[in-house]
Amino acid sequence: MIESTASLDRAAILARLRTLLPADQVETSEAVLKEASVDRFKKYQSVNGIFDAPTPAAIAYATSAEEVSAVLQFANEHLVNIVPRTGRTGTEGGLETSVADTIVLDCSKMDRIIGIDPENMQATVQAGVPLQVLEDQLREQGLTTGHSPQSKPLAQYGGLVATRSIGQFSTLYGAIEDMVTGLEAVFPDGGIQKIKDVPRRSAGPDIRHIVIGNEGALCVVTEVTIKLFKYMPDNNSFHGALVDDMRTGVAILREVVTNGFSPSVARLYSPDDANQHFSHFSKNQCVVVFVAEGPRGIVKATGDEIDRVLAQHRHERVDPQLIEDWFDNLNWGQDKIDAEKAAMLSNQQLGYTTEVSANWSEVANLYDAVMERIRHEYPHYADLPMLGGHSSHSYQTGTNMYFVYDYRIDCAVEEEIAKYHVPLNAIIVEEALRHGGSMVHHHGIGKYRTPWTTAEHGTAYPMLAALKEAFDPNGIMNKGTIFPVDGAIPAAAQHPDTTFTGPAGLRG
Ligand SMILES: Cc1cc2nc3c(=O)[nH]c(=O)nc-3n(C[C@H](O)[C@H](O)[C@H](O)COP(=O)(O)OP(=O)(O)OC[C@H]3O[C@@H](n4cnc5c(N)ncnc54)[C@H](O)[C@@H]3O)c2cc1C
Repeated sequence: MIESTASLDRAAILARLRTLLPADQVETSEAVLKEASVDRFKKYQSVNGIFDAPTPAAIAYATSAEEVSAVLQFANEHLVNIVPRTGRTGTEGGLETSVADTIVLDCSKMDRIIGIDPENMQATVQAGVPLQVLEDQLREQGLTTGHSPQSKPLAQYGGLVATRSIGQFSTLYGAIEDMVTGLEAVFPDGGIQKIKDVPRRSAGPDIRHIVIGNEGALCVVTEVTIKLFKYMPDNNSFHGALVDDMRTGVAILREVVTNGFSPSVARLYSPDDANQHFSHFSKNQCVVVFVAEGPRGIVKATGDEIDRVLAQHRHERVDPQLIEDWFDNLNWGQDKIDAEKAAMLSNQQLGYTTEVSANWSEVANLYDAVMERIRHEYPHYADLPMLGGHSSHSYQTGTNMYFVYDYRIDCAVEEEIAKYHVPLNAIIVEEALRHGGSMVHHHGIGKYRTPWTTAEHGTAYPMLAALKEAFDPNGIMNKGTIFPVDGAIPAAAQHPDTTFTGPAGLRG
């Protein structure tokens, strides 16, 4: 916990907040505030009623950029910590309130679709529009955003942009940074700044990228303009195959993608991970999945290339209907979140993930190195019900690796993160950095990967730090997120080896 730097006490913060927003937009019920002090990083603790982060002073519900501006100006003047939020699906502690008397600034009531513009193939939405709501409206018009993270039913545009999110169809449509053409954001000094949408420009550095991925640590996203695509689901073709090992699977993904084809989905599952999803056909083998989308001719050509590449490797084909059925049930709405909570309580078992990326030449080595280290170094390896990984987003130069690990809690609820998640996450992050990759592919740094922010950016870190100094000089924005701050992470959640500094600091 970090002591509050606010120049006002909690009562005075609330009194001032109530002069800025209508009474029904300031939430102070203790139970609701406790829930607002964490995100899914502490999903097991919170489902057991344990909240060890400081309880925020209030949740402020903004309904306009002007209200966001008023709250930020007030907080900036009196050094009150702000945690912006929208859909609340964050997984990395970005929503955790590490400072006493924080204001959680909730933008979910800013939920207006401002316009859908089929001629210019873009839509403009407020930050609180859920992706699913926009997508449903677009599909009625034969359009799509192409954005489909698994959290689509719940995630909202502010968070989608703030975390640099990515969807399941990224190999064709790209990630959020490829989709945003313009946006509006509010900075701690209260300035409402709009980046106009244009197809492209060469007018200095691309300032969209100061906002995209800022995780609420620089500014609040209030409006977003995104690209649209034609929606042609009738043309989709689904492809699946079983292959012997991860190296073969990586080679197949690489060949299809680098030969100039853009299947919307290109995935590879390790045997253990595959058993979670495809146990009815995976036979303890690796599973490769492709989906081709778009105009009929492109789908046909992409399917032909997938067939050609698969034919060069030992494989067994999977019935395409099984792959299609799997996709239809992949997303997570409130129903699955509730079922997960019930399961956590009934059998004390939960799953976690750490997603990283690396170039093609290193990704299989990275996968092997992580498995090897966990097997030999992690004292509770034998007790893990599941350890595996998948690649789900491929690029011309490399791919991601999404490590998944389940564990059964056999310790005090408060000790679970330190015993399981922290050491496993640390090994994965260290190996990603050691293999020249990124320690975080799409969930954001949040608060629990900040011990490696400087190693991630290396000699470029001063550029990142300068953004914080320039846009949030008083340090009121989501303290402890992205930028490491002493005390933001409880000591028990710090891995002893977080002094890792990249390749020079390698062990053995
Ligand atoms: C079941 C599940 C599946 C997921 N699948 C994916 C996936 O496929 N791909 C993927 O990329 N991610 C995935 N995620 C992670 C997460 O859902 C996404 O990162 C999503 O973009 C977060 O959006 P949100 O609206 O829920 O943001 P929140 O959880 O509310 O916030 C997340 C972060 O963004 C900041 N933030 C929120 N709103 C704003 C704003 N208006 N301005 C500035 N900062 C803001 C917060 O402070 C926090 O740091 C998944 C999560 C879950 C629980």
